[in-house]
Amino acid sequence: MGTLTAVEQTLSVNDWMNRAAASIEAQADHLTQLDTAIGDGDHGMNMMRGMRAVTAALADGDPDAPPGKRLILAGKTLVSTVGGASGPLWGSALRHGGRALGDTRELDGAALVGVLTAALAAVQDLGAAEPGDKTMVDALGPALATLRERLDAGDPLEAALAAAADAADEGARATTPMQARKGRASYLGERSVGHQDPGATSTALIVRALGSALVAPA
Ligand code: ADP
Ligand code: MG
Repeated sequence: MGTLTAVEQTLSVNDWMNRAAASIEAQADHLTQLDTAIGDGDHGMNMMRGMRAVTAALADGDPDAPPGKRLILAGKTLVSTVGGASGPLWGSALRHGGRALGDTRELDGAALVGVLTAALAAVQDLGAAEPGDKTMVDALGPALATLRERLDAGDPLEAALAAAADAADEGARATTPMQARKGRASYLGERSVGHQDPGATSTALIVRALGSALVAPA
């Protein structure tokens, strides 16, 4: 270790959303298959349409907007373009996450913890899902807890993000044996057991995309 204090890395909202959109697009058929098993088969299409609109809105948006404003724009865009449950849920997550940032110009690790804390709270306020209900909460919750733990332990942001993404993947996989208690899949009762939740799966992709949004310190 050098004697200089490491300059904190920050994240680009546009890069985050662009990468998330690309990986959702690449996995759209898989997300649709998962939603066909326990829902109505539109999750891949919903998220793809929404994220395409988000990247377009950000590309057209104010190039000087701070990260909070960009997240609010992304959230509003998701709400207005996605019909399924995932639109309002992720939309409100990003809007609240953006609001938590205020006018901060640097989206560093601590700020990201604030964003994801507000995002998770927004999802739970709106959808009333608890951990274990087989929803996106089961991916986002572990991702946030891991990110916070690793940053508190002094890990660099890049390593903490990788650990958070692994926790989100693990959380998504752990939804397979769960019985859905929220959303469309809950109508299936016990027949929802044995399938991975589509929303938790796309959430893990969105969390993984954070690792591609790191901006090298100036
Ligand atoms: P819809 O169910 O309206 O067709 P999508 O297929 O786009 O919407 O999204 C389904 C996903 O949304 C589920 O896999 C689940 O992760 C998430 N979801 C549904 N209801 C809730 C809820 N109340 N709280 C959190 N997440 C939910
Ligand atoms: Mg659906």
